[in-house]
Amino acid sequence: MPFETITKHPERFPVAPNLADYEAARADFDWDAARAALSGLPGGQGLNIAYEAVDRHVAAGRGDRRAIRHIDRHGGITDLSFSDLARESARFANVLGGLGIERGERVFALSGRVPALYAAALGTLKAGAVFCPLFSAFGPEPIAARLEIGSGRVLVTSRILYRRKVADLCARLPALDYVLLTDGGPEDEGDGVLALPRLMADVSDSFTIAPTAPEDMALLHFTSGTTGKPKGAIHVHQAVVMHAMTGRMALDLHDGDVFWCTADPGWVTGTSYGIISPLVNGVGMIVDEAEFDADRWYGILQDQRVTVWYTAPTAIRMLMEVGADVAKGYDLSSLRFLASVGEPLNPEAVVWGAETFGIPFHDNWWQTETGGIMIANYAAMPVKPGSMGRPLPGIAAGIVERTEDGGAREIAEPDTEGELALRVGWPSMFRGYLHEEARYRKTFAGDWYLTGDLAKRDADGYFWFVGRADDVIKAAGHLIGPFEVESVLMEHPAVAEAAVIGKPDDVAGNVIKAFVALKQGYEPGEPLLKELMAHARKRLGPAVAPREIAFRANLPKTRSGKIMRRLLRARELGLPEGDLSTLESDER
Ligand code: AMP
Repeated sequence: MPFETITKHPERFPVAPNLADYEAARADFDWDAARAALSGLPGGQGLNIAYEAVDRHVAAGRGDRRAIRHIDRHGGITDLSFSDLARESARFANVLGGLGIERGERVFALSGRVPALYAAALGTLKAGAVFCPLFSAFGPEPIAARLEIGSGRVLVTSRILYRRKVADLCARLPALDYVLLTDGGPEDEGDGVLALPRLMADVSDSFTIAPTAPEDMALLHFTSGTTGKPKGAIHVHQAVVMHAMTGRMALDLHDGDVFWCTADPGWVTGTSYGIISPLVNGVGMIVDEAEFDADRWYGILQDQRVTVWYTAPTAIRMLMEVGADVAKGYDLSSLRFLASVGEPLNPEAVVWGAETFGIPFHDNWWQTETGGIMIANYAAMPVKPGSMGRPLPGIAAGIVERTEDGGAREIAEPDTEGELALRVGWPSMFRGYLHEEARYRKTFAGDWYLTGDLAKRDADGYFWFVGRADDVIKAAGHLIGPFEVESVLMEHPAVAEAAVIGKPDDVAGNVIKAFVALKQGYEPGEPLLKELMAHARKRLGPAVAPREIAFRANLPKTRSGKIMRRLLRARELGLPEGDLSTLESDER
């Protein structure tokens, strides 16, 4: 049954939405004006994300405003004003200077959501170095692969993560000169493994920001493809134009808001919207160190009087499982705008939001490569549950089909499935995959950037997600490349072949399922299954390891020897098997 469009009641809005008239905002939009809304470095010295996010507010007399309210695992609260954040990030930039870290060099972070992470991210940008966040639930293999590709010179992490996941990797990572430990006492842990609090205490809290140009590399975010190693998507300082603009238009941020983005800064949402966007807009944000817990989350929404909440479908579905009654035990009346991103938001979840909170979840769409929100449901616009919404002002999105000459043709007819594409030229567009020019080029056809997603556009201009055009998997909102998982399984002496698919899951969207064929002499069975699971978990970490492993005598392959993951998936889910003409004959 189709879900009814949810119309808004403007009288319910305590403040007028920033984007009141969508068509007018699109017609009037101008990137130069969006750029001009930022201040640029003093003396016309360029553009720097950290200056726009922090120091600009201090210079304008807003330094006393709260920038971050950090809630630790035990509920302890630490507030950082914009002035505090300016000083802490300056100290971190000075630490990098003292270690001889140069502009353009990569500073990685593998950290929980602790205040030092935020000082490190902004301090790195102040120093003109490149900030590269990793997810703390990664295991050693994904960590090493990314540090290697990015030639990370510095890694900011905690003592426990260092000991558990990094210490054994250092010999593999010749570029990694320093590990900076965010917690514990003043003791270093070895050559180049240094206590960050001590280093921070020893340096000045003022720093003159490096004169970065709008096109200088600022952020490196890793993402995955169907094949090959992870890809480092390069973002530049002028991405901040998009972070600022989308914060106002798509998330409806206003002065005085209390914003909570639940994404971890190890993923792109947690950096673009969990650090930069609210700060650039002068809005204070909540940072919760702990993982999901329904009561804790409702408690935070209530006690912190959160007004704008940006979360993800898996979390929303977990709240739905706990039940609306739990939500009713809390005063959630401060909430003004709810948004969701990262994976398909099922229409039931949108409607559940409207019933439970009095306002629907507003789905929006973007990806690591786009650097910021591209398609969104807006505060003032009717929501069609299940739709990702309409493109931001300044963004041209289309449904295209690839042509034989390597180009793309836009499909004008509504409700027709094709690849979601974006016309190039927005400020936060990725500028390359590090060291992988050919892979980068392949994502473009003429002036279209091809997103790898399949979608439809309806007659009202709303976009609807259909699926991925490739084999990458979204599990609990995290994008996982099957090749990375298969490679680790293949390292086990018993495994001859491995293939990984996403298996639909009611809460997580997908879970990772692996199929393995064994080498001669190995017996499928419970002991080997447990061993493979443990091997994968240890090497990949819980966020990436398969949830299920199944043995197969052999895996279906094309005549050229490529494993057909799609066929495995179709068979697993009882779906039509599609075109089997390229399948090796004995596999049919
Ligand atoms: P990432 O680069 O990790 O942020 O993942 C981006 C991918 O997540 C997109 O290409 C989509 O496949 C998926 N995605 C993001 N937002 C949505 C959404 N609102 N609806 C459906 N899929 C989404």
